[in-house]
Amino acid sequence: MDKTSFSSCNKGKPIRCKAAICRKAGEALVIEEIQVDPPQAYEVRIKIICTSLCHTDITFWKLTHGPRAKFPKILGHEAVGVVESIGEHVDGFKQGDVVLPVFYPQCEECKDCKSPKSNWCARFCDDFLSNTRRYGTSSRFKDSSGEIIHHHIYVSSFSEYTVVDIAHLVKISPEIPVHKAALLSCCVSTGVGAAWKVAGVEEGSTVAIFGLGAVGLAVAEGARLHGASKIIGVDLNPDKFEIGKRFGITDFVNTASCGEKTISQVIKEMTGGGVDYSFECIGLASLMEEAFNSSRTGSGKTVILGMEKNASPISLDSRAIIRGRSVHGSLFGGLKPKLDIPILVDRYLKKELNLDGFITHEISFEEINKAFDLLVEGNSIRCIMWMDK
Ligand code: NAD
Ligand code: ZN
Repeated sequence: MDKTSFSSCNKGKPIRCKAAICRKAGEALVIEEIQVDPPQAYEVRIKIICTSLCHTDITFWKLTHGPRAKFPKILGHEAVGVVESIGEHVDGFKQGDVVLPVFYPQCEECKDCKSPKSNWCARFCDDFLSNTRRYGTSSRFKDSSGEIIHHHIYVSSFSEYTVVDIAHLVKISPEIPVHKAALLSCCVSTGVGAAWKVAGVEEGSTVAIFGLGAVGLAVAEGARLHGASKIIGVDLNPDKFEIGKRFGITDFVNTASCGEKTISQVIKEMTGGGVDYSFECIGLASLMEEAFNSSRTGSGKTVILGMEKNASPISLDSRAIIRGRSVHGSLFGGLKPKLDIPILVDRYLKKELNLDGFITHEISFEEINKAFDLLVEGNSIRCIMWMDK
């Protein structure tokens, strides 16, 4: 049966379904029966078709303290689903639509959403402390004893059903294979967007990418699409060079074999003074500094995508900045989800954007803890979990 064909008669009623609950930081997830409440105004309840595991989930899974370390919770934010029912004041979505939930909001109305300068949404951007976008700590999930389960960055896709605010939902063409579409819900959009919108990589430019996971490989794909002539991958896993070649990686630096030299010295030697664009896609302060030090004096741009789990400060040479180098951060690759994801879908359908090679494993949702082992041990790029497999 077509995985996107769908009808439901639960409109307005709670749904009982399976979800993978994280009860304690770092512990294996437990598949439990939960209750998913109907969507409130501006919300949509979606049936997840498949979901994948991103390193950001690992970071939140391991968080032991601070206001974001809330348990029990339902993790997961890279997914594709189909609309089951809609709340009041929901325009533009109807039952059966294929949709991507996205952790990054776009209200489409605030000053920043209307400006082409960035993907910031002044109305809805916050520090991911709430459960639901417009209703604060109010949750749509309960376990079988009635205890509230927390949401995760407004998506919580490790559940057969989830409730998502319309500011976090994008309708897509059903022509794209669903498991490939799921990649556009986080990693590929983040990486491709960073090369395209944040850095503005152009024909003939040189690029260094620190960390060749799904995000870093997607940066390479974005740089390749925009004509970069030299794309240096930097990783401690030497297998990533061969894998990266498919995405346009032309050269490789193994962080474990730089000897006496720093990584940035090696990159400067390879490029006659540094790259035009460097990207950090790991989440380590020391490598953010090395990415900056690898960029070219005068005009080098560094884009930081990796999430440092302790939000540690970084130290940059102020003289290098005065001489024209710059650093940019970006969430969701600087993309406005509702505007830019359909463009990426279109580029995939026109066979410009390559989405092959990101998915290394496909398993059933019940086997979700395997996906954690694979990513933590560096043995997967993306592992797709099918809800109905
Ligand atoms: P991943 O775990 O799949 O990949 C990380 C890569 O970095 C791996 O290839 C690994 O071998 C390499 N690596 C790890 N430590 C290294 C080191 N010390 N030196 C060299 N290489 C090293 O991760 P991912 O899912 O691609 O995510 C990458 C980062 O991007 C994470 O920090 C994640 O939280 C972040 N992220 C940010 C956004 C955003 O909007 N900015 C979105 C998604 C993910
Ligand atoms: Zn992600």
